[in-house]
Amino acid sequence: MEKKHSIRFITPKRTFEKKYKNYRSYKKYLASDFNNRCGYCDDYDGWQGGEATYHIDHFAPKKKFENLENDYNNLIYSCSYCNRFKGDDWPSDDPKVNIVNNKGYIDPCEDEYQKHFYRDSTGKIKPETPIGEYIYNKLQLYLIRHSVLWNLTRLQKLKNQLLEVIEGRDVDKEEFDEVYSKYTELSIEFDKYFRYILGDINIKN
Ligand SMILES: [Zn+2]
Repeated sequence: MEKKHSIRFITPKRTFEKKYKNYRSYKKYLASDFNNRCGYCDDYDGWQGGEATYHIDHFAPKKKFENLENDYNNLIYSCSYCNRFKGDDWPSDDPKVNIVNNKGYIDPCEDEYQKHFYRDSTGKIKPETPIGEYIYNKLQLYLIRHSVLWNLTRLQKLKNQLLEVIEGRDVDKEEFDEVYSKYTELSIEFDKYFRYILGDINIKN
């Protein structure tokens, strides 16, 4: 059977309580509450220039619901892709009615969000439910970049673990050689994905 991974490891939580008049003032607190990850696709902002390149998405669109424009509880830390594709899409005339006939959006701060998706063994996001499928298509969560960034994070974590062993004092030669060769192998794979982000090469779907 295919191995399924969760779309994310941590459910973001809005913890910031101060109120600002302009939603843009919340950005750094929002980034922190969302663990520097897009609420929708879980892409880490550190791979693409950090906070400055990320957007603030209005879960219930500000164009439809002006009174929610500066409401922290309606804000989502979002990559530019998800934010742009979602646009002003909303299934109803009520900001509290977020799903109609399996169309609409789940707030990523709900634990439920991750039940609508999974990642396959290569890190690609896949829908698990009809609502998940709606979001998947609207936000183009099938884009290869989402699995590339997931793999960069995965490989970097493994590399860091090996680096600790390599730099450790009490490693014998045999273990060192083994770990070093594994590290090299991971680095080559890492570079393949990293070059994709730099626009160097293309990875086919
Ligand atoms: Zn995203």
